[in-house]
Amino acid sequence: MSDCLFCKMGSGEIKPDVVYEDEQLLAFRDIHPQAPLHVLIIPKRHVANLNDLDDALLGGLMLQTAAKIAGQLGYAESGYRTVFNCNGDGGQTVHHLHLHLLAGRQMHWPPG
Ligand code: C5P
Repeated sequence: MSDCLFCKMGSGEIKPDVVYEDEQLLAFRDIHPQAPLHVLIIPKRHVANLNDLDDALLGGLMLQTAAKIAGQLGYAESGYRTVFNCNGDGGQTVHHLHLHLLAGRQMHWPPG
């Protein structure tokens, strides 16, 4: 989608602080980090949110990639959280599917 911020990042038109990239995915540091590590993992192709995810392999790849990044950056043992926000009540503000990866502090439950 031409007016989608995360599509522009996925295509390289806008350059975020990238921590991982492959053919299908891009992972970059969130500009308003909510933890010492806060990375967003996005598909390069436009998917608006979890409701529109029609490819189970892509979803699994996003989760596996989160675990891989957490491990590479040294957070596998201490732990981390992954979150998909979906639509209004889910707190989604950018309508291009993204998986939050948060680590480096104690997480709380229930989330706000
Ligand atoms: O799940 P939600 O849609 O609320 O998350 C969007 C995330 O995208 C926010 O954490 C926000 O800080 C991040 N963001 C970003 N770079 C931008 C715009 C938003 O990292 N240019």
